[in-house]
Amino acid sequence: MVVSAIKGMSDIYSPEVEVWREIEEKARQLFLRFGFREIRTPVVEKAELFARSIGEDTDIVQKEMYTFPDRKGALLTLRPEATASIVRAIIQHRLHNIPTMGKFFTIGPMFRYERPQKGRYRQFHQIDAEVIGFEDPVVDAEAMYLAMLFLEETGLRNIELRINSLGCSLCRPPYKKRLVEYLKNYETSFCKDCARRLNSNPLRVFDCKVPGCREIVSGAPKVTDSLCEHCRQHFEKVCFYLDEVKCGYKHDRNLVRGLDYYNRTAFEIVAGGLGAQNAVGGGGRYDGLFAELGGPDIPAVGFAIGMERLMILLKAEVKKERVKRPDIYFIALNEEAREKFFGLAQNLRKRGLYVELGYELRSLKSQMRRANKFGSSHVIIVGESELEKKTAILRNMDTKEQSELPLDNNTEQVLIEKLSKENE
Ligand code: ATP
Ligand code: MG
Repeated sequence: MVVSAIKGMSDIYSPEVEVWREIEEKARQLFLRFGFREIRTPVVEKAELFARSIGEDTDIVQKEMYTFPDRKGALLTLRPEATASIVRAIIQHRLHNIPTMGKFFTIGPMFRYERPQKGRYRQFHQIDAEVIGFEDPVVDAEAMYLAMLFLEETGLRNIELRINSLGCSLCRPPYKKRLVEYLKNYETSFCKDCARRLNSNPLRVFDCKVPGCREIVSGAPKVTDSLCEHCRQHFEKVCFYLDEVKCGYKHDRNLVRGLDYYNRTAFEIVAGGLGAQNAVGGGGRYDGLFAELGGPDIPAVGFAIGMERLMILLKAEVKKERVKRPDIYFIALNEEAREKFFGLAQNLRKRGLYVELGYELRSLKSQMRRANKFGSSHVIIVGESELEKKTAILRNMDTKEQSELPLDNNTEQVLIEKLSKENE
């Protein structure tokens, strides 16, 4: 029987993987310009890390976590997101004490036990960024600006930044009370999840996609109308800085996030073309999380972008040309010819060229066909008569020009110079 991959978990291969790499590289380059340092944390953590940070009554913890006991019975979880792990790592290694280490990014797989569908998988990948140590709204705005700039640089158009403020530990509790009072009027009309959330996590009701619940919520008091003076000013300043860099946004008063740890700024980046899974990225401020996880009281802001959803949106751009063409494809027509250029091919690779070899001593026609499939820009052919003359045939596959190439100690250098001249 053939073994296949786990449902909702994908293999990523060419030509898509070339686009993945390009996007990841773009993220790295851009994030470095904003002063971010890379951090790589394990994909498995103790289960309690996520239960404590993301929140007991969230979709992620309630029904989406891959949690299992290891051989000694310790409960482990495949990370559903990156923030909790990064915060754990920062606390554990006291990275917050290093003044130049306030911005972190990571790129890697996350795991959530969800029903697989377009844009929603069980293993997916995030580009994640976190800024720690600053309460100032300038940081929130910069994080959102960076997320938007990055998405634009990947070629994405028609995306919308939606922002909201969720208040703080001062203004949220009284607001929550008012919200519950309102929601209680509709107690019997909510879906099963929301009926539960009503008591444990009322804000989450805003996140529900069930039409009946959405309707009730549309008339509910909004958290933005209950902000304390500090939160109000903070939010205004976030908007000011976004305006300053002409980063468009929409104030979405119904926006809350699926994780408990957010306070004040919350945001989402949505795009058309993803159906119900319309968020490519999201993030927000999480000033209480460090203390919650036993660390120092440090404010922070972060966001995550979903690679798969980004890839769906960029699908039209996935073209074969992104797969690199060989600079040279070697065709040997007999064993002796292959012995002659095996070393030469390796040396050319060492010097930076992409070289392919015809590993099978097939007919010229069949090897030329293979070289063409690779889209090779040059082919070098060596057969019996070339061996006698100590030469090779060099063919430019684009111009169809053919020339004789002496095979001697100089061949490597001659080829390098010839190709770099052509590329000028
Ligand atoms: P959604 O509302 O779509 O479930 P979320 O709020 O759970 O999203 P976050 O936890 O904010 O998502 O994660 C940030 C980004 O990661 C999302 O905007 C999305 O692009 C991506 N993402 C989240 N869950 C999945 C998944 N199961 N499959 C693919 N991408 C995902
Ligand atoms: Mg989700």
